[in-house]
Amino acid sequence: MTSVDTLIHAGWIITINADKAVLQNHSLAIKDNLIAAILPTVEARAQFTATEELELTEHVLMPGLINMHGHAAMAYFRGMADDLPLMTWLNDHIWPAEGKWVSADFARDGTELAIAEMLRCGTTYYADNYFFAEATVDTIVDSGIRAQLCFPIIDFPTNWAATPDEHLQKGLALAVQYKGHEQVMVSLGPHAPYTVSDEPFRKIVAAAEEHDILIQMHVHETQGEVDDSIKLHGKRPIARLKDLGLLSPKMQCVHMTALNDDDIQMIAESGSTVVHCPESNLKLASGFCPIDKLQKAGVNVTIGTDGAASNNDLDMLSELRTAAILAKAASGNAEALPAHAALEAATINAARALRLEDKVGSLEVGKWADVIAIDFSELESLPVYDPVSHIAYATSRNQVTDVWIGGRRVLAERELLTLDAEAIAQKAKAWQQRIVEARNV
Ligand SMILES: [Zn+2]
Repeated sequence: MTSVDTLIHAGWIITINADKAVLQNHSLAIKDNLIAAILPTVEARAQFTATEELELTEHVLMPGLINMHGHAAMAYFRGMADDLPLMTWLNDHIWPAEGKWVSADFARDGTELAIAEMLRCGTTYYADNYFFAEATVDTIVDSGIRAQLCFPIIDFPTNWAATPDEHLQKGLALAVQYKGHEQVMVSLGPHAPYTVSDEPFRKIVAAAEEHDILIQMHVHETQGEVDDSIKLHGKRPIARLKDLGLLSPKMQCVHMTALNDDDIQMIAESGSTVVHCPESNLKLASGFCPIDKLQKAGVNVTIGTDGAASNNDLDMLSELRTAAILAKAASGNAEALPAHAALEAATINAARALRLEDKVGSLEVGKWADVIAIDFSELESLPVYDPVSHIAYATSRNQVTDVWIGGRRVLAERELLTLDAEAIAQKAKAWQQRIVEARNV
């Protein structure tokens, strides 16, 4: 008998491997933070002894979900301003609230709430774009989650830094500090083409090259952004970014509505990733990202929730379902983004964008054991002809029961093991009270 740390006997395993294999009555073994074996349960019982052995025979195991775009600490602005178009929402509500409240404490506490929510919906890796990233790192590491921290760079002063150069210097110091860290990847997060001018963009391109780090940015969030760019720069945002040298496999373009065929061609040729945030785009009436066309052109498409202030949750299961359904409506093609492709967008495609496809994004021997278990025993999940279909079209986040990240169990039967849920709730209520009282003065 071979000894392992954890042995999980599952009803189904959705591997997201190259063969799209979905295995029935198989088991997954974890040893030293890695997936040690995936094999039929009868063989696993004969071959392995484990420190912890779980019978999840009515559950599906799949790779942890990767939320490729958000603003974690904005969980504290959830429900603060709804039913508004993007620029009104930003100018009249979000930016003033950020000016008043955002600090290291706000970022740390708000991020903790967001991580708790994400772990409870099966997210094991998330991309963040927020201020005071350095104040959130300890919370991330202690919770067990993994994060791509895209530090902001913007033309105007923020509570974090006064100039684009200061934003860049502070963020790059963090990038140097966490280079090679298994839970924290630091990346450049210029806000958007309409809030960053050419000179900082040139420095961003040079920094990405020098430090070999990735870039994530809001691009083509609305038609208005495209129109303004043509007026101001004489070209569409994608063409401007291309001319500035920003489009490359290092680039993650978030939103990407209002694209024409030339834009799609430029993105495809550059090897840049698209991060589709369907629920935020729908709620802010921002437009539609043509993911069917993008995928047909060979573009790597991933999924993100965006911040809880514009969604208003961080639920990747709901997000991938919305993506799968919206793709069909937006393209007039019911075959667009089929169920398995939606799961790939939320897992292995994101791993590719992060340059971690040999570590995360699928359940394969030798990869980090980032695994989630979803309960299919309730009436709402019966019958089960195809577990992939259920995950895409008929599963709620409340069915996510267990989560392991690097073999460490962080959620057990929906209980958070690494975070104090009661303390997180108390902090959220205390911040709410401060924010409401200040509004009423
Ligand atoms: Zn965003």
